[in-house]
Amino acid sequence: MRDTASYKAWVAKAAKQPMVLETVDLGPLDAEDVEVAVEHCGLCHSDLSVFNNDWGISQYPAILGHEVVGRVTAVGPNAKGVQIGQRAGVGWFSASCMHCRQCMSGSHHLCPQVQATIVGHRGGFASHIRVHWAWAFPLPDNLNFADAGPLLCGGVTVFAPLARYARPTDRVGIIGIGGLGHMAVKFAAAYGCDVTAFTASESKFDEARGFGANHAVSTKDSAAIGKLGGSFDLLISTVNVKLDWDALIGTLAPNGRLHVVGAVLQPIPVTAFSLILQQRSVSGSPTGSPVAIETMLDFAARHNVAPQTEHFPMSKINEAFARLQSGKARYRIVLDADF
Ligand SMILES: [Zn+2]
Ligand SMILES: [Zn+2]
Repeated sequence: MRDTASYKAWVAKAAKQPMVLETVDLGPLDAEDVEVAVEHCGLCHSDLSVFNNDWGISQYPAILGHEVVGRVTAVGPNAKGVQIGQRAGVGWFSASCMHCRQCMSGSHHLCPQVQATIVGHRGGFASHIRVHWAWAFPLPDNLNFADAGPLLCGGVTVFAPLARYARPTDRVGIIGIGGLGHMAVKFAAAYGCDVTAFTASESKFDEARGFGANHAVSTKDSAAIGKLGGSFDLLISTVNVKLDWDALIGTLAPNGRLHVVGAVLQPIPVTAFSLILQQRSVSGSPTGSPVAIETMLDFAARHNVAPQTEHFPMSKINEAFARLQSGKARYRIVLDADF
């Protein structure tokens, strides 16, 4: 018998306040929901943004964590596709309406009613998490479960635009080599692309090459960027800081695309002629659809793509958040449940 009244979670009571361990009562399981006992949960930059209320959308008390790997402990009577005992993952979204135009066409992540896992919903820095069955993903057996969590949010966020826009013969630039960017380099290299890593820290050049980058360029080196004019079929930007966007767009080949997945809050200025004359595009996307997540997990298992991680016991969650905030994490933090 599951004692659902004694589940535990790390709770943020207000912005920037240290999280505290509390008992939570999840109540009866909804008919369409799946319950997962959390084993590992990645710490994504979005957890920090919601923790700090950087986007003004946070709801407190908040249970953060949205890169969950665990075992299914319960399934509602109407839940489909997952079984008790199975290893499953949960990412940035935890439910969608399942009947709107977007859901019915497979783009559940664009559903007007899509539910973020950590805003107005209890996330994965907890002993258990509950999500709609469509957002609980059975994990391939040969995945490295301890390190798979970050694939569920950061991984699919960079994989989805690669799978959608890039061909293996393309030249791809990854801007920002951090949590998202280092996974993007690994995915793009495994996909077969010629990969250039753009980073502000030249100290990351060697590691970027180790992740599969063919070239590494400093985002601060205007001369080097200038020499790359007309090179890239796809640039994926993972940064949340202002860059010389004009120069970067100038590195796009005809028909090239700058795709933004990093939540930079300042506007990205684009001149019409830099798009028109070379038929270039600027676009963005949030995480990915359920099918994109399943495809990404399958690709990651087949090509051995895994994030480079630092593990903390979940009881050190406040230290882990401080480390992420310091910018020193290399490259993704994973918290291991120790309730
Ligand atoms: Zn995330
Ligand atoms: Zn919908």
